[in-house]
Amino acid sequence: MKLEDALTQLEELQRKMYAYDAASNALYLDGVTVAPKGTGEGRGVALSILAGERHKLFSAPEVGKLLEYLTKHKAELSRLVQRQVEELSRSYEQLTRIPADEYMEYASLTNEANEVWETAKEESDFSKFEPVLKKLVKFNQKFAKYYDRKKKPYDALLNEFERGVDMEYLDQFFATLRERIVPLLKAIEEKEQPDDSFLHKHYPIEAQKRFSDYLMEVVGLDRRHCTIGESEHPFTLNFNNKDVRITTHYQEEDVASSMYSVIHESGHARYELGIRDDMQYTCLAGGVSMGVHESQSRFYENIIGRSLPFIQAIFPKMQEFFPEQLNGVTAEQFYRAVNKVQPSLVRIEADELTYSLHIMVRYEIEKQLIDGSLKVQDIPETWNKLYKEYLGVEVPDDKHGCLQDSHWAGGSFGYFPSYALGSAYGAQMLKNMEKEVDVWGTVGKGDLSAVSAWLGEKIHQYGSSMEPADVVKNACGEFDPAVYADYLTEKFSKIYNL
Ligand code: ZN
Repeated sequence: MKLEDALTQLEELQRKMYAYDAASNALYLDGVTVAPKGTGEGRGVALSILAGERHKLFSAPEVGKLLEYLTKHKAELSRLVQRQVEELSRSYEQLTRIPADEYMEYASLTNEANEVWETAKEESDFSKFEPVLKKLVKFNQKFAKYYDRKKKPYDALLNEFERGVDMEYLDQFFATLRERIVPLLKAIEEKEQPDDSFLHKHYPIEAQKRFSDYLMEVVGLDRRHCTIGESEHPFTLNFNNKDVRITTHYQEEDVASSMYSVIHESGHARYELGIRDDMQYTCLAGGVSMGVHESQSRFYENIIGRSLPFIQAIFPKMQEFFPEQLNGVTAEQFYRAVNKVQPSLVRIEADELTYSLHIMVRYEIEKQLIDGSLKVQDIPETWNKLYKEYLGVEVPDDKHGCLQDSHWAGGSFGYFPSYALGSAYGAQMLKNMEKEVDVWGTVGKGDLSAVSAWLGEKIHQYGSSMEPADVVKNACGEFDPAVYADYLTEKFSKIYNL
């Protein structure tokens, strides 16, 4: 093989994989947004064939040989191609390490599990989900060994979602947060709650749609490259750095719900749109990790979107969209209402302060499940106990308890901590950004360009060309969970006059 030919093959391989992904994504997007309800079957056939073809393409022995050859000639490759070879080799090894029959069995199990979970949740009956969850846990314990035999099983799983993160790192992170958040929460509970009733007046969807367009404009999304659709759960889907789609879910009696989904997903979209051209159609296009992605979405949603300067900047315009609903309400009142702290049962409805506590419950349970010290049948009891301990709330049923999230049904163990890490990274990015940029001066004018430029330079442009830990270091410096705890303490002490 000549190096030149190998490089051509590498490029072709990655472009083909991009094409399969683009086709699957387009079908998926159609399915969850505009496709008629009765059309799922045919899409399912097409999607499973596309997934199979992609798998075949990438797991072929020739790909292994190609990657081996390029690894041998590493010194002659550009830095970006070196990185592509590294990433692809890692995925290739992963894919070929799990025996094909186990891989297939697991794929069909997660498919089944999702349906079982939906029914169990609807009926609020954990015992229905228990048998399939047991199998999923067993598989993950086994897969963890395939991923990395040298690591503790849960560490190996964590590493799949956030490379470089392990239990030692997370134990310390969560311990710091708990120590600081729990007393803060107790102090807040003694205080009077702000009035947020105006958030729950009637907000017609047509007006909310125009408001979404406005918010995307404020965040600086170029509508030639990013559109918004509607789906049951909001998400962001990226094709390439010229084509990203976001979705939201409108609720007529809750204006903040879609508002903050739009800002959150816009943060994900900015990341994807900001990745450099020279990484497109390769495995390096796309955000580097879940945690870093969430750091971006949560930065826009919470740190900027739920700040007083931002709300003051957009509030006059908001009152134009919703003149009756916001009549007599001030920007300051709106700010307090969208920052109301209230320990609750459901993670996705949690406020900025208590959110990490929801994650901690899941982290503790996953840790024990994977190391075998917690039995699947004891999840509900442990879940309810931890909610009482961390958040002070009584869980009335499994639907609002351990059956609320889809992650375990999808076979994801070790995914949750990324959400909390993302929030913490964001707080540290803010601290560094403030040294270089007049963050609040510009945001207070409704101008997010300086903030976005900073994030673009430190994070977005690199895509997956650096290790997640190096991206974090580049934007945050040495990671220190106390910075996030300080940010929360300062913000909520002010809001609640502590
Ligand atoms: Zn997100």
